[in-house]
Amino acid sequence: MTVNIVKTQQTDNLIYLDYPATTPCDSRVFEKMAPYFCNLFGNPHSNNHALGWAAHDAVEAAYAQIAGFLRVAPKEIIFTSGASEANLIALRGVMTKLPRTDKNHLITTETEHKSILTCCKQLESEGFQVTYLPVDEHGLIDVAALASAITERTLLVSIGTVNNETGVIQPMEQIGRLCHERGVTFHTDATQAAGKMQIDLAKWNVALASFSAHKIYGPKGIGALYLRSAPATKLRPVQVGGGQQRGIRGGTIPVPLCVGFAEACRILQDDFASELVRIAELSARLFDGLCKSDPLVKMNGAPHSKVPHIVNVGFPFVEGESIAMGLGNLCVSTGSACSSDQLESSHVLRAMHVDDYYVQSSIRFGLGRFTTKEDVDYTIAKTSEVVARLREMSPLWEMHQSGVDLGRVQWK
Ligand SMILES: *Cc1c(COP(=O)(O)O)cnc(C)c1O
Repeated sequence: MTVNIVKTQQTDNLIYLDYPATTPCDSRVFEKMAPYFCNLFGNPHSNNHALGWAAHDAVEAAYAQIAGFLRVAPKEIIFTSGASEANLIALRGVMTKLPRTDKNHLITTETEHKSILTCCKQLESEGFQVTYLPVDEHGLIDVAALASAITERTLLVSIGTVNNETGVIQPMEQIGRLCHERGVTFHTDATQAAGKMQIDLAKWNVALASFSAHKIYGPKGIGALYLRSAPATKLRPVQVGGGQQRGIRGGTIPVPLCVGFAEACRILQDDFASELVRIAELSARLFDGLCKSDPLVKMNGAPHSKVPHIVNVGFPFVEGESIAMGLGNLCVSTGSACSSDQLESSHVLRAMHVDDYYVQSSIRFGLGRFTTKEDVDYTIAKTSEVVARLREMSPLWEMHQSGVDLGRVQWK
């Protein structure tokens, strides 16, 4: 496998462990895309000349490739700018579909990606009802609680397959069965599931699903909405544009990005089984290594229901931000990318009722295609060293050692 992270002065010696935030574009993907920028630049909607036809064919091939990867029909794929937009079309599109009925209730969870939660807030401000299901300490929803939350007025359930901060996998089959029995449409944000686990939209009774290319070694700026055709999923378009993609998502289709997205799916599919084994080994090695050097380490998220690619751990009595700073050349994340910008603690870990001092001390290590065993060993050594040094200086550690129960302390 080609290791293609381009080393420049800024990236030399960096070890990238922030794959859930974004991935490098695989060089094979980039090469596939290249001709479609300057040479085969036609508009796929121009049907009077050869350049238009070539672009059209490339887009059709991309639909087919992505559909094949998801084991759905090509006509069930709608290209979007990314998963955020796919989520928006799914939620707004279904909730505002015409003709309006008295169904105005949406159910989601407290641990969804911000693109879902922000959209829900906006719908609430327009008079729609939203229920945010809590999760247990493992990050899992209670399917019985979902069952009792569904009412006569419930139109849509939106629950992400894999959480981007913890890697926790929700019980998709049970959720799907329940939605089917109760006649409720089921949407899932499957962005973090692609390439990390078997996706079975039919078995899960999913009517709509969101994906993003830049999380799977494809280009930024493209994603997909899966829209089930039978039984048909009705929605009201958000961006009508020039009526492209059957009026569901207008705008000229970005051919190079489609080609890249498709190639990214092809590579995922080809390497799926071996890559999963490799990542599972690296993941276990990382967590075991961290535990060995620091017995206080705690994994956030259900170990029995998660993808191995995301290892979210708390190092109590030290601050995550300080750890991340100390890790220097290791690219990791404290909380999600968006919440770190806003300098607020992770809404996902808070929803899991992780103790505050664990939330503040948590680091997300993301493993991916270009992670090596050497990277993992270096990460264990470096993290252990930084955590030990910070803990020595930690007033919290001192309080703990002198017998203060930090679980009972109120943090500001
Ligand atoms: C990254 C991510 C998104 C947003 O995807 P974009 O393509 O960047 O809009 C949505 N949901 C999840 C779970 C993600 O990890």
